[in-house]
Amino acid sequence: MNAPFVSPIQDLLDDLHARLIEQRAGEVATYIPELGKADPEWFGLAVATLDGTVYEAGDSRVPFTIQSVSKPFVYALALQDRGLPDVLKQVGVEPTGDAFNAVRLEPYTGRPYNPMVNAGAIVTSTLVGGDTYEERRERILSGLSAFAGRELVVDHKVMDSEAATGDRNRALAYLMHGAGTLTCDVEESLRLYFEQCAALVTTTDLAVMTATLAGGGINPLTGETVVSVEAAAHALTVMATCGTYDYAGEWLVRAGLPAKSGVSGGLIAALPSQLGLGLFSPRLDPRGNSVRGVAACEELSQRFGLHLMRPA
Ligand code: GLN
Repeated sequence: MNAPFVSPIQDLLDDLHARLIEQRAGEVATYIPELGKADPEWFGLAVATLDGTVYEAGDSRVPFTIQSVSKPFVYALALQDRGLPDVLKQVGVEPTGDAFNAVRLEPYTGRPYNPMVNAGAIVTSTLVGGDTYEERRERILSGLSAFAGRELVVDHKVMDSEAATGDRNRALAYLMHGAGTLTCDVEESLRLYFEQCAALVTTTDLAVMTATLAGGGINPLTGETVVSVEAAAHALTVMATCGTYDYAGEWLVRAGLPAKSGVSGGLIAALPSQLGLGLFSPRLDPRGNSVRGVAACEELSQRFGLHLMRPA
């Protein structure tokens, strides 16, 4: 009898899980106190292809708060609702080479450098469609849910924990309000951003959300058009140049894929027109990227020849 067929993708995910689970370098983020309660051993991997097939390994169904991995998705929603020229008036697209929470704005425009760092993401949240805080909040949650193909909910404990300790983001928001690039009420804008960051997802959700961007804005599971091809392409482009903060350059050289990381340990990477990768493991390197996530993603890229700059 023939051995049952195991997809090479599933095979590699299982193999990566078995090997990288031994990797225990890095620290769980604690500056948002609730995040410090994460199990450092969690490790989930998932791949979603554009035909709607999902491969998973490890803790791929453990819920965690999305944090900064929300940024490219909310940026795509803002582009969809306002268009690139209007969004560019308030948020730039230049890489910073700085940490995710750097307190630095563009010198002449007062814009945050890009939507993948905290400053830019705080403004971006206010640019989604809606005239009131309530309407924008609803737009963000339903938009993130459409990317995932299921209804997402917010972890209010994590949200409140960040709201109570987020002085650095508060400082950034006041600076941008003073510069005229954050035009909404400061406390409401921060609340919106903290809420977005506290949306609960699984590694599998991340893979599907990323496959939606890779597929030009169409969710491969539900068939719903979540954002336009242009909005998805712009979000992927900014992920490529700015998605892993001060590691973005080396990341692109090594993995060659648009990506985004977050402090709860989530990491996504996209192969346009093909697939979305989701990784999750809470131990972070000093730049705030998941140690196992980065290692798994770089190996997946190398083993399957996914580097976008390399001829097939
Ligand atoms: N909510 C987090 C913060 O603003 C998100 C940061 C991150 O995931 N890198 O600090």
